[in-house]
Amino acid sequence: MVARVVPVEPFDLVVFGATGDLARRKLIPALYHRLHDGQMPPDARIRGAASSEHSTENYRNIVLEALNEFVGPDALDKDCVDRFLTMIDYHRVDAMSESGWASLLPYKDDGSGRPRVFYLSVAPRFFEPVVTRMSEVGLTEGEPRIVVEKPLGRDLASAHKLNQFLGSKFEERQIYRIDHYLGKETVQNLMALRFANNLFEPLWNAGHVDHVQITVAESVGVEGRGAYYDGIGAMRDMVQNHMLQLLCLIAMEPPANFEPNAVRDEKLKVLRALAPITDADDMVRGQYAAGKGNPSYQEEVDNPTSHTETFVALKTHVSNWRWADVPFYLRTGKRLRARVSEISVTFKAVPHSIFPTAKNGKAGHNVLAIRLQPDEGIRLTMTIKDPGPGGMRLAPAELDMTFADRLQAAKLRMPDAYERLVMDVVRGDQTLFMRGDEVEAAWAWVDPIIAAWEERAEYPPTYDPGSAGPEDALMLMHRDGRRWREIG
Ligand code: NAP
Repeated sequence: MVARVVPVEPFDLVVFGATGDLARRKLIPALYHRLHDGQMPPDARIRGAASSEHSTENYRNIVLEALNEFVGPDALDKDCVDRFLTMIDYHRVDAMSESGWASLLPYKDDGSGRPRVFYLSVAPRFFEPVVTRMSEVGLTEGEPRIVVEKPLGRDLASAHKLNQFLGSKFEERQIYRIDHYLGKETVQNLMALRFANNLFEPLWNAGHVDHVQITVAESVGVEGRGAYYDGIGAMRDMVQNHMLQLLCLIAMEPPANFEPNAVRDEKLKVLRALAPITDADDMVRGQYAAGKGNPSYQEEVDNPTSHTETFVALKTHVSNWRWADVPFYLRTGKRLRARVSEISVTFKAVPHSIFPTAKNGKAGHNVLAIRLQPDEGIRLTMTIKDPGPGGMRLAPAELDMTFADRLQAAKLRMPDAYERLVMDVVRGDQTLFMRGDEVEAAWAWVDPIIAAWEERAEYPPTYDPGSAGPEDALMLMHRDGRRWREIG
């Protein structure tokens, strides 16, 4: 396997919020790796901007610390680090005043066609002030690209307002809404698996698929993000964006080509075909209790009356011909047994078993499990003959397509999602970014579920840390004669 690197053209990147967590943990390491791998040209210019005062030298130290912490000192190439640091400078720019904006004038359109990217790595309350000031000083002239991250609104009305505002300053082709799940190698591999192979697509429908499960489980709690998370909850933080995007990639029709709007049109159709959830038993919430030496959620966020959910389990359907009556089960939560993100497609069992020794007279289900983290890869559970002379006994066995092994053998590193996504912005490729109408369609589906919970005004049931979530979530599956896959 050969990692082919297609260099991008020289570009300008301004990171608003360059001293923040996202910039230090994700953007800086991603850019360093792209330089190291020869994709980012040495004459790209990177400008850090935030409201605190730092000299460029001081900021370069912050960058160096971030590289040591998040890439690791042993993995750093000193020459490359030195080159990287010289590409970066810093200017104090306050989103809320006129202070510092003149320093960004060199990033105005100069007619050269050099890509200019403005990354809003700041809290959403700064989106409007930053873009307004960009516009006032002329930075929105030409074809700049703007990058924004979740949360993109907290409901349909606020997402619509944000889209309208961004749309008043930029064309849709200039707006890059990141959902970093779409930048994960395995998620892109899911598209390759479906649309570059003829093996699964003929089976990818209600005739052959029993059900789909999507799990995003975290073992940690809110970890200092309590001020942001409380009042937001798992539905807004995980389901509306990441999980619905994964569902779209599983359920979408093959697009006519791999062009941004062709792909996004098909995802939008899935979102619009999602059946509203009306049965309260099909929308389970939970909140983690204290245990195993950890405080409860309410203690952690210092809000003893918090109704915010840290766990959600849902059952829904995609109401179209392909997926009629196929349940899609979604589950996400914090402080669960393990950190796992996985999509599984369970195929129907064979209609008739010829093997008398098979359990219940039938062979097991084939399950295609797409693991996003940890151990990215794809595994297919097959039924095989149990080896040995003991007669025709059947047993499940996994066909393992774990990419980490192959990458390791070829001494390749699994790239982080942000490496791909930031380079895509520079290339002007929006395929892996959400379009405004997708974001709104997702909120339109999520809003009534949140409204139903709010109307009932009940505390979410608690669950034990280290468990698989509240009992109601297990019951949701049980009623259908199915089981969640193990978290672990
Ligand atoms: P953060 O750690 O709080 O950083 C915020 C940044 O904004 C800092 O650099 C801060 O620097 C800057 N800032 C604050 N006030 C400012 C002002 N008046 N003018 C200019 N800059 C100002 O936040 P974060 O975690 O990096 O998140 C950034 C964005 O990404 C948010 O929208 C968040 O929801 C989203 N996001 C983050 C993650 C993540 O992993 N962290 C994941 C997904 C989405 P100064 O204080 O120096 O000004």
